[in-house]
Amino acid sequence: MKELKMCPITKCEPGAKLIGVKIDNDVFDFLKENIMVDEDLFDVMTAVSNPEKRFRFSNVCLETGCKHWTGAACGCVGKVLKNVEDLTLKKDAILPQCSIRERCRWFYQEGRMACDVCPLLAIKDKDLLEV
Ligand code: SF4
Ligand code: SF4
Repeated sequence: MKELKMCPITKCEPGAKLIGVKIDNDVFDFLKENIMVDEDLFDVMTAVSNPEKRFRFSNVCLETGCKHWTGAACGCVGKVLKNVEDLTLKKDAILPQCSIRERCRWFYQEGRMACDVCPLLAIKDKDLLEV
């Protein structure tokens, strides 16, 4: 059976996976093991303010159900890379740890370039990229 790809930048909701935490300088650090957001964790995380500002979440790529789907690929990651081409990306020899890389839609499409920019993004960046 085809394994579904994962979107690396989704909202916090029950069933999503917590994959990263914001650290200094507004950069997200990715967890070695992701944490399933169950109803209890969702209630805790949404009790204060938008968790997407402080954490990164992943869920199954919706493909045709997502406004960023082009018909064959995710159009969001390309726009992100285009928008940040002026930034100095961190191109470490070693990829940052990430619990969803094997199934990540962005890594599947763009390889390590996606991982260079991914830690710099909050969900608001994705929302700004209207198709
Ligand atoms: S098409 Fe892109 S933005 Fe949309 S759910 Fe899939 S990976 Fe995420
Ligand atoms: S783009 Fe790279 S760092 Fe971001 S979620 Fe995908 S595999 Fe992980």
